[in-house]
Amino acid sequence: MADDTMRAFVLKRVGEVGVVEKPIPEPGPNDAVVRTTAAMVCTTDVHTMKGVISVAPGVTLGHEAVGVVHAMGSAVEGLSDGERVAVAGVTPCFQCENCQRGYTSQCSGRMMGGAVFTNQADGNMAEYFLVRNARANLAPISETLSDHQALYATDMLSTGFLAAEHAELELGDTVAIFAQGAVGLSATIGCRLRGAGLIIAVESIPWRQELARRFGADVIVDHTHDDPVRRILELTDGQGVDAAIEALGTPGTWEATFRVTKPGGRISNVGYHGDVNEPLKIPLEPFGYGMSDKQVYGGLNRGGRERLRRILRLMEHGNVDPTPMTTHEFGFDEIERAFRMMETKEDGIIKPLIRFE
Ligand SMILES: [Zn+2]
Ligand SMILES: [Zn+2]
Repeated sequence: MADDTMRAFVLKRVGEVGVVEKPIPEPGPNDAVVRTTAAMVCTTDVHTMKGVISVAPGVTLGHEAVGVVHAMGSAVEGLSDGERVAVAGVTPCFQCENCQRGYTSQCSGRMMGGAVFTNQADGNMAEYFLVRNARANLAPISETLSDHQALYATDMLSTGFLAAEHAELELGDTVAIFAQGAVGLSATIGCRLRGAGLIIAVESIPWRQELARRFGADVIVDHTHDDPVRRILELTDGQGVDAAIEALGTPGTWEATFRVTKPGGRISNVGYHGDVNEPLKIPLEPFGYGMSDKQVYGGLNRGGRERLRRILRLMEHGNVDPTPMTTHEFGFDEIERAFRMMETKEDGIIKPLIRFE
């Protein structure tokens, strides 16, 4: 391999992924190039592989990576060569109208426009990757944190915490979280940090249930044994919860969030519904025929240095350790296997760690 090329894990065509050689990217004035040290595969990558999210063939996959600064553009300040950095899965410009309004995930006036990696440019499942607007999007990783920990700040915790933030929990509030995959588990961590008084986690897989308990769920509802709506209403004296979080992306769980939320409650969606790709229905009676004062939020990872720093800080001081979510570890040469396992969810996989060195 020539000195100026690298290995990148790409979408060859829908359903086919693999490693190709690409030139190492060169930074523009505001960009940085990061040498990847570790990455994680996300369910979103699997959606892309399956063609549910459509992208250009040949594009590098991945949006959850950490590494060291390899090269910087002439206008980049506040970073140094060789510094360990985390980059969020969403890398907004922080300059456009939507970013200025605070909706950085909807950057460039486009829905989910902040999702640059893979969707608009090469992702970061490669030995090197380019980050635009580096100053705004790279956060230094303290030496007390491992790459493994820092990776969780790039997407899972940021998205899960957003779910808890959109749930607008007050101290002692009740919350139900549908599904305890990596985002649902991160939402559980977020709800615990936000001071929920009762966290009900809906999940059937034993290891995920165990993690949910460890991360702060008070009650686990197994939807294969119990009707979650009935059980959640029972647990809240028929009142329903103050907030419900949808972290799966299915019509059934979506509708359930309306059924378990009390009037004036919040419904916080972080599940991706493109997999089913049908209009979502809102059940009329639980929505008060449109007059229930229930609020619905839907969002994704907001990205940005400051948000990364906040999440990293929580881990630095021992408030959060999400690493038990990592069920498998692979080398760069095994990424395809990690993708296939994430697709089939075999062997209880939740989050696979990819080590580059
Ligand atoms: Zn992700
Ligand atoms: Zn923007």
